[in-house]
Amino acid sequence: TIRIAPEVWHNGRFIPWDEARVHVMSHVIHYGSSVFEGIRCYKTERGPAIFRLREHIQRLLNSAKIYRMEHNWTLDELCDACVELVARSGLDQCYLRPVIFRGLDERAPAFGVNPFPNPLCCYICAWDWGKYLGDEALERGVDVCVSSWNRMTSNSMPPLAKAGANYMNSQLIKMEAILNGFAEGIALDDRGYVSEGSGENLFLVTDGRILTPPLSSSILLGITRDSVIQICRELGIPVEEREIQRASLYLADELFFTGTAAEITPIRSVDRIVIGSGKRGPITARIQQVFFEITSGQRPAPGEWLTYVNEH
Ligand code: PMP
Repeated sequence: TIRIAPEVWHNGRFIPWDEARVHVMSHVIHYGSSVFEGIRCYKTERGPAIFRLREHIQRLLNSAKIYRMEHNWTLDELCDACVELVARSGLDQCYLRPVIFRGLDERAPAFGVNPFPNPLCCYICAWDWGKYLGDEALERGVDVCVSSWNRMTSNSMPPLAKAGANYMNSQLIKMEAILNGFAEGIALDDRGYVSEGSGENLFLVTDGRILTPPLSSSILLGITRDSVIQICRELGIPVEEREIQRASLYLADELFFTGTAAEITPIRSVDRIVIGSGKRGPITARIQQVFFEITSGQRPAPGEWLTYVNEH
């Protein structure tokens, strides 16, 4: 069973889990008007520590800005709310889910597409989330496919925003992958270049160099992706953001996904073509090791990456 924080943050107050409810006619239910974040809080010797909290909350505010959500929640207020929620939950590690959405004003309902009349709501929930792509994925790697669905284009649904509605595209990719016996799908962008997984960024290792698709390939600018790029710089491994062709996936020495939920997950096959040795590769293993040393507080990060909940 999953351990869930008994309280939910709502507009500066903590409410019981059971009371965090919305009306079925809320704008978000019908028109997908939400933006959200996913943040991990890691168990360390100094207690729970939230990974790159400010960067995640800044991305939430950026997503809200793109969708013209005008509100008064500040970066500091939402960061403090996350810290307090974890502290009150008693969880030693968890996943945090802040979400801002268009609700319903029950005294002056507005049912049309126009989002402006609807009130904005902000909630933060937390639960202990295990390994996203399966218990053995981090060590053994996962089998994936290239999706028949493309990632949406930046002038239709901007992938730069972490909007709830973007995950309809992610669901098409994920469902197709699962029904065909794969753990995850990789989407191409509308031009046919490699984009990302349904909830993960992607890295290739070829000839000792690391490549990852650029923003122009319809990706979410992942915070784990940025962390991996910074870790590689520290390790002296060159990283290039470059457009990648589908066939280059098959020829890579190593492939891995990055994401808050997926962390650093090796990919052992694409479309049933074995990648490299078919096992977690040495460079993936090294980056993974350093990443987990940092998130567990055992190794200094390249920046202020951990917010220690008990010392805040
Ligand atoms: N791409 C998509 C579509 C995602 O949903 C996620 C998960 N937030 C990522 C990439 C990875 O981003 P991050 O490392 O910030 O979690």
